[in-house]
Amino acid sequence: MRRLYDDNLYDFATPQPSYWEATAPPPAFTSPPLERDESCEVAIIGGGYTGLSAAYHLASDHGIDVRVLEAGHIGWGASGRNGGFCCIGGTGLHPRGMIRHFGLEAARDWYRSQVQAVELVRDLANDEDIDVDAFGAAEVEIAHSVRAFTRLQSEHTALTDLLGIDAELLTRYEVSERIYDSAEQHGALISKPALGLHPLRFCRGLALAASLRGAKLHSASEVLHWSRSADGSHRLQTSGGTLRASKVLFATNGFMPEQLGAEFYGRTLPVISAIVVTRPLSDDERLDQGWRTEHPAINSRHLLNYFRLLPDNRFLFGARGHTRGTLQGERATYRKIIDTFRTIWPGWADVEIEYRWHGLICMTASLRPGIGRLTDDPFTFFGFGYHGHGVNTATWAGKQLADWMGRGAAPDDLPRFARELPRRYPIPVLRRTYLRTGLVVANWLDSL
Ligand SMILES: Cc1cc2nc3c(=O)[nH]c(=O)nc-3n(C[C@H](O)[C@H](O)[C@H](O)COP(=O)(O)OP(=O)(O)OC[C@H]3O[C@@H](n4cnc5c(N)ncnc54)[C@H](O)[C@@H]3O)c2cc1C
Repeated sequence: MRRLYDDNLYDFATPQPSYWEATAPPPAFTSPPLERDESCEVAIIGGGYTGLSAAYHLASDHGIDVRVLEAGHIGWGASGRNGGFCCIGGTGLHPRGMIRHFGLEAARDWYRSQVQAVELVRDLANDEDIDVDAFGAAEVEIAHSVRAFTRLQSEHTALTDLLGIDAELLTRYEVSERIYDSAEQHGALISKPALGLHPLRFCRGLALAASLRGAKLHSASEVLHWSRSADGSHRLQTSGGTLRASKVLFATNGFMPEQLGAEFYGRTLPVISAIVVTRPLSDDERLDQGWRTEHPAINSRHLLNYFRLLPDNRFLFGARGHTRGTLQGERATYRKIIDTFRTIWPGWADVEIEYRWHGLICMTASLRPGIGRLTDDPFTFFGFGYHGHGVNTATWAGKQLADWMGRGAAPDDLPRFARELPRRYPIPVLRRTYLRTGLVVANWLDSL
């Protein structure tokens, strides 16, 4: 079965040329490829936050013998190359949309768990002594138009009055006083808890903590075939050996290997997101555009941009990528991203871009993540579909799944809303066509 995007997005042998890869300390754990036939209790496919957090909690909280099989190096996927925003969200729904679709109680449960998820990342970093380069303490959403500010006002009321979230609304003037000045701002919504971090440092720290607790990690071990025997046990075949396990967890998010099992076919819509990072700005350059915050920020466009100052004064700017993922398409994406960056902050038009890279985030047709187990197979678990909010949500999902496997029952902390396997997209081969259509509509809405 062909994958959704161009093959270069699945080149597991090559790391992305990211700022994170260039600045993270080398791994302090070993992760040799699987080279013979082995067995364990839980086998995890995917060495990102979901898989590593599950491995860490399975080994440390439940004493379970667990192994992680990763096709690339540990953190090769989105967990090693994201923007480092650790913020609440985790679905494709706005707060009022969530309340409308699922009811106030379900929405409250979800937001409570999102706050826990951010705190879990902070706690893991503290408890395991992971230096994540934490920067900022809130997320800022900038209204790019007057109409967008009206939406943020309504969102602010829903978050504070109905969902118990710590949020603040800023006028256009307050944004220029406290956040930054730009050609495009009409107020902002600030929400907590949140922080910016170095995603690959966090990922490698989590991997080290998991391996110190006894989890075994295998990089360069792509699972090529998955089979189950009558007693429910699993066989995961890689080019180097076979891993037998009583339970398996699919922790592959936007890189879901759909060819492994019909159960997971057509349930994800991976979307390319791309990032550029500048050279360090001088303090004068930074203040030229009135940039005064450490908080990570997004704007309110339907095709949103995400951006933050990094601890070494570089500026990170991210946006939606190409719809095929070809190298030529990505070159066009980077040109467009750099143009947008320079339009918003004309004072930085001459600042050189030193890093650019991209990867896949994961959406679902139900606009919710799926964190659970198959209904007709109680030994196969899954965690995916975080809608671009995986730093907190994937880490938390890994813990929930570890507790579920360890205790044999779904944890109370895991809202029912997120437990189901997301429904399949209608005619899954058309997923990229849906995406292209969605992007045209979003572009049009942004231009109004
Ligand atoms: C450019 C970009 C920016 C982002 N920015 C943010 C952000 O700022 N904040 C935020 O919260 N989220 C962000 N995200 C999303 C976030 O990074 C993800 O939601 C999160 O990392 C998902 O973690 P994961 O462990 O589930 O998946 P991943 O980290 O993607 O890991 C899945 C792993 O599965 C492996 N795999 C796939 N198939 C196989 C197989 N057959 N055998 C073995 N291994 C396999 C892959 O190699 C991959 O490493 C961003 C994503 C991207 C791409």
